[in-house]
Amino acid sequence: MCIFCKIIEGEIPSTTIYEDDVVKCILDLSQAGVGHTLVIPKKHYANVLEIDSDTFGYAMKIAQKIAKALKKTFNCDGVNILNNCGEAAGQTVFHLHIHVIPRFFNDTVDVKWVDNSSKFDPKNFEELKNKIVANL
Ligand code: 5GP
Ligand code: ZN
Repeated sequence: MCIFCKIIEGEIPSTTIYEDDVVKCILDLSQAGVGHTLVIPKKHYANVLEIDSDTFGYAMKIAQKIAKALKKTFNCDGVNILNNCGEAAGQTVFHLHIHVIPRFFNDTVDVKWVDNSSKFDPKNFEELKNKIVANL
């Protein structure tokens, strides 16, 4: 059983913010920012590519609910709602979860990426778009 399945079963202790039949929301041990919460579907799905859209949609709805609660609790300047899908994207626990992280100006959370706009010619976007659209 994976670590989050064990948490959901209560075999590993966690601090639960919210729970219903579909999801369990717990405080992340690493607390990237104070209040950092994980929204975890109770059923095991490895990642966002495997989960059905209804369950994922529901988990995102709960992530929004948590984001609003964090805003109210900490009066943060912003909130990141994010998912790491796959090892290359930074996923370390392979049971899908959504991070909800309170953000403040000048905090230590780092979810930035490099601006590559100077390396890409928007003239090529049409071709790029067509490749993606073919797989929708
Ligand atoms: P990922 O890197 O897969 O997107 O995120 C995994 C997250 O799970 C990390 O932020 C890590 O701190 C958190 N985590 C790992 N093990 C545990 C645990 O046993 N309890 C809790 N509450 N969080 C955990
Ligand atoms: Zn699991």
